[in-house]
Amino acid sequence: MNIFSGLKDILGQINNIDGAIYAKGKDLADVYAKNIVLEEEIAARTKELEQANQTILTLNSVWDMMNSSQPLSSMLNKIVSILHNEMGYQFVAILKLHDENVDAPYFSAMSVSSHSNIEKIFNLMGLDIDTYKIPYVGNSIVAKAINEKQIYSTPDMDGVIGMFFPSLSKEQKDEFMKLIQSKIFSIVPLVSKQSDYKGCVIVTSERNDITDTESNFLTLYANQIELAIVVAKLFEEVQKQAITDPLTGLYNRRYFEDNVVKEAERSLRLKQPFSLISMDLDFLKKINDTYGHQYGDIAIKTIANVLKTEARSIDIPARIGGEEFSLMLPGVDSKGAYIAAERIRKSIESQELETIGGITASIGVATFLEHSDRIDELVEFADQAMYKAKINGRNQVQIAQRDCEINWQQVAVETFLDILVKKRIPVSDELAESMEEKLNAIKTVGKNSKDVLYTIVDMISQTYNQMYKAGTTKSKLLLAVMLAKRLDLPTEEIDKLRLAILLYDIGNIMIPEEIFNKKEPLTEKERAIIKQHPIIAAREILKPISNIQDIIPIIESHHENWDGNGYPQHKSGMDIPITSQIVLLVDSFYAMTQDRPYRQAYTVDEVMEIIKEQAGKRWNEKLVEDFIYIIKNEPSR
Ligand code: GH3
Ligand code: MG
Repeated sequence: MNIFSGLKDILGQINNIDGAIYAKGKDLADVYAKNIVLEEEIAARTKELEQANQTILTLNSVWDMMNSSQPLSSMLNKIVSILHNEMGYQFVAILKLHDENVDAPYFSAMSVSSHSNIEKIFNLMGLDIDTYKIPYVGNSIVAKAINEKQIYSTPDMDGVIGMFFPSLSKEQKDEFMKLIQSKIFSIVPLVSKQSDYKGCVIVTSERNDITDTESNFLTLYANQIELAIVVAKLFEEVQKQAITDPLTGLYNRRYFEDNVVKEAERSLRLKQPFSLISMDLDFLKKINDTYGHQYGDIAIKTIANVLKTEARSIDIPARIGGEEFSLMLPGVDSKGAYIAAERIRKSIESQELETIGGITASIGVATFLEHSDRIDELVEFADQAMYKAKINGRNQVQIAQRDCEINWQQVAVETFLDILVKKRIPVSDELAESMEEKLNAIKTVGKNSKDVLYTIVDMISQTYNQMYKAGTTKSKLLLAVMLAKRLDLPTEEIDKLRLAILLYDIGNIMIPEEIFNKKEPLTEKERAIIKQHPIIAAREILKPISNIQDIIPIIESHHENWDGNGYPQHKSGMDIPITSQIVLLVDSFYAMTQDRPYRQAYTVDEVMEIIKEQAGKRWNEKLVEDFIYIIKNEPSR
């Protein structure tokens, strides 16, 4: 081989190598470029994975919450806060559609994210976020999302705000837009067949658009919310079906009441009595205050255990409320029930509790067919007997006393119906209708009529006196009856007193509001108008109603004073019916312990001082003595 051909050979090889190097270089550049694309893709996928992971994690925690049977509101709050904090939406709300009234459907907010400006926004609008009714507009994007069960988004924030808050001025709307700072508004429908829930989740974002991945996430959350709502409803139903009280394992109030109804039917059919024992732990408040609530709970559990041990298998021992217990004894008359109650009382008294020491209970007994053949009355009798046990010194059993010869409740129901139907008092048609409905319902069913009556009187009193506290009527009645019983008034008088307590203030409703709510002292003329109210009540409102004629004199005299300085007739001493004296004392006691436009409430101690001071002047001394005894010994009002 000559040198040239050798050289040529080498050159050729160099060329090849060159070519190869060039080709490799090109490959490398390709690889490099591909790498960049791949890396970008990996980054995007990783982000998606991270997001998916985050979604799964948060969905998981929501799922855990559902299993821990938390109330629906806290689950919804959690979902909203996840969407807001972890998924980065600026504003999130879960809305519920109320379309029962087809003409005026609206949304209410079930949960709203804590957008830093949301409170400011609602303040700006002068609206309350919890009660605001968001209008539902039939042909809007929101309606479309719900009807088509599909996510919809719109960049028209201005339009959406205008639709949700039609009363905003232009400036408020601009301010709103500035505060919310979002570019896109999305509506995720919530339509759950199993729970009848219709509504939507709304989210706003500062991004320009909503991606498919986001859409999928939001759908997942919407499913989760629907599920949470279904679970919460199921949980509610299961709770309703529960028959025992969790703290004590005794039957609960609902189960007890259902069984009393069944037992009453059986008892009427077989003409066989059954008894109720009503029981209340003495001085539980003191135990709670001295040793702490957990010791109070121990006392409650101790009573429950005694009841379980002492009850026969056919008896129904129940926890009715915090520290109230009842025991139903089928087939047992009042004598038998008294023996059972005494055995229970002794057993409670003999318990030795750690730290607390001993406890006691006050017990009332009432028997079906013996004291009453109506359930509500029977329960009331058992309770009254229990109160009597409290007043007489606690740790004892009392048997109910039969009273109620005339059915005062029935008379009261008919009187109020008459007043309302004949429009004898100035209340709105709406209020009158709602009260009539309540009264008619109890007239036919005859159950729980007392509480309805008290509510009606509370409602009427609240129309002219905004400071009148719901529940006051019931307390007044209880106190008046206790006082009457302590004075040994005959049953008929007590029944009249009950009616008088329900009716005596009704004349107030005719007093002009400006006078009633006046903060400054009244003028002579105004005072004269106020003084007319018992007469107005008696003459104008009650006179036309035939079956309450003997209540009218009680009401007419309920502002007369013992020393003759009252009004309107300046009667004195025992010329004033004793029932009127009771009404005056009970009324004054409650008036003084409640706020008035022109002064603040006095404490019970202060009121008792005032009452003592005026004994012999405004009121009968003996009456005051009994009143003091009751207030001192009475279980809490
Ligand atoms: P009385 O002898 O007049 O019945 O006095 P009392 O202190 O037992 O009655 P009062 O009605 O004044 O107070 C009842 C208290 O019982 C008030 C309430 O906080 C407490 N209570 C109610 N339910 C429970 C409960 O489940 N556990 C505990 N620890 N206390 C309860
Ligand atoms: Mg108690």
